[in-house]
Amino acid sequence: MAFELPPLPYAYNALEPVIDEATMHLHHEKHHAAYVNNLNAALKEHADLAALPLDDLLRAVQTKVPEAIRTAVRNNAGGHSNHSMFWKIMKPAGGGAPSGALAQDIDKTFGGLDGFKAKFNDAGLKRFGSGWAWLVLKKGQLEVLSTANQDSPIMDGLYPVMGNDVWEHAYYLKYQNRRGDYLTAWWNAVNWDEVGRRYEAGKRG
Ligand code: MN
Repeated sequence: MAFELPPLPYAYNALEPVIDEATMHLHHEKHHAAYVNNLNAALKEHADLAALPLDDLLRAVQTKVPEAIRTAVRNNAGGHSNHSMFWKIMKPAGGGAPSGALAQDIDKTFGGLDGFKAKFNDAGLKRFGSGWAWLVLKKGQLEVLSTANQDSPIMDGLYPVMGNDVWEHAYYLKYQNRRGDYLTAWWNAVNWDEVGRRYEAGKRG
């Protein structure tokens, strides 16, 4: 079965004013759709790989995926996975603070929510060119890092708790070159319930 573009879990204008409607249309209907279409095209002659769950395909990029399609699968399976997570960890009128075990772990690891946000924003700001800022679980420990292009932490055996897209396509229409302003504003769209759910799932392994 071919991979499919998941519908946005809210309206295209629902994240205003943090993310504008025009950006959401382009980002979901053009960029994410292209990753899905290009992934299916790359796997056309590889039914065994196309049948894998997406996470398994990401983990297999450096091993099972033939070299001829490796770059295409890496970029497009990564793009499909990253964006499928991204839409879900945002919501209308989001923001606020995490709760429960995730909040405690953030306090313990980063000295509080503000310390975590500063570290995460810094990772996004310092990612040269296109990529993602991440909060991951590495052997059960929270860690902030960034990846280039559409690389997923799953490719490195890590669990992505949350990630922010710092490609220019994610923010340029509204924020132009001010990536830092986008990173700061983005916290007002975060769906902490979903991030907390992902954290619990990652801790269970
Ligand atoms: Mn994107």
